[in-house]
Amino acid sequence: MLLEVTDLKKYFPVAKTFIERILTKEERYVRAVDGISFSIEEGEVFSLVGESGSGKTTTGKLVLRLIEPTSGRIVFQGTDITSMSKKEIRPMRRHMQIIYQDPYASLNPRMRVGEAIMDPLLIHRIAQGREAREMVLEMLEKVGLTPPETFFNSYPAYLSGGQRQRVAIARAMITRPKLVVADEPVSMIDVSLRASILDLMMDLRREFGSAYLFITHDLAVAKYISDRIAIMYLGKIVEVGRTRDLFRNPLHPYTKALLSAIPVPTPGRRRERIKLKGEIPSAIDIPTGCRFHTRCPLAFDLCSREEPELMEVEPGHFVACHLHK
Ligand code: SF4
Repeated sequence: MLLEVTDLKKYFPVAKTFIERILTKEERYVRAVDGISFSIEEGEVFSLVGESGSGKTTTGKLVLRLIEPTSGRIVFQGTDITSMSKKEIRPMRRHMQIIYQDPYASLNPRMRVGEAIMDPLLIHRIAQGREAREMVLEMLEKVGLTPPETFFNSYPAYLSGGQRQRVAIARAMITRPKLVVADEPVSMIDVSLRASILDLMMDLRREFGSAYLFITHDLAVAKYISDRIAIMYLGKIVEVGRTRDLFRNPLHPYTKALLSAIPVPTPGRRRERIKLKGEIPSAIDIPTGCRFHTRCPLAFDLCSREEPELMEVEPGHFVACHLHK
């Protein structure tokens, strides 16, 4: 197993006002990630899907140890990295890369494209000088930025959003990482270019044997590239399974609602849209019982009292809902 995450939590303390500090000693927390477990195999594409505020991005940062977990366990390639110091974890960084959502913010505007892609090779002492340059030119070709010599010397400001994201992908993949966290990598890209960027990511994954932890709010995008999908709601995984099982037999009412929003490609066919009540609640005041009960069209008495456990309902397909015990 490449990555094993067990009961991972991340609580951010809420800053108190002056009056609140006088009136109460009680600390309040944003429970961004609230006890999740999952694993990713070598070369697997595992997606975390959910609305904004579900804890997906925080999970991605935790897994790479870019932020400190509150509790839980992260094991990468058989090594427990949960409490490793920055120094201890540094040699593993070449195997754990990230692609951010915003290709405009993720590249240093003062660095030429070639230097930006070469940087990880130098940092991790994989190559230098002519060899490093050759590797970058080869990678530019792979990501479709040709002629590579021209792009090597360009600055990000002169590139389109799609081209910048190709640079960010090249920078992440040049070390041939074992795990890449891809955080909404196509959501800021023009719709017409999204499939080509996803196809590029899949080609590189096949070539390098990398696994992706793919973070997206878009179930259709997740379906396109994932081996397995986990649905997150308010800091918890509420359903997880192989992509085909999740689409053939969605079980959690939240999954069904997300699925109903995907347009059906067949002309004349429509899926009935399930509209959820209201917005996702605050992660400071998480509803009691099933945290989805305030929006669930199928909620009943028990739902507001007892939190459902994630249970296996068919091989590899788990759901946390009292309707499926
Ligand atoms: Fe809805 Fe109840 Fe199932 Fe939660 S446990 S998803 S509220 S039916």
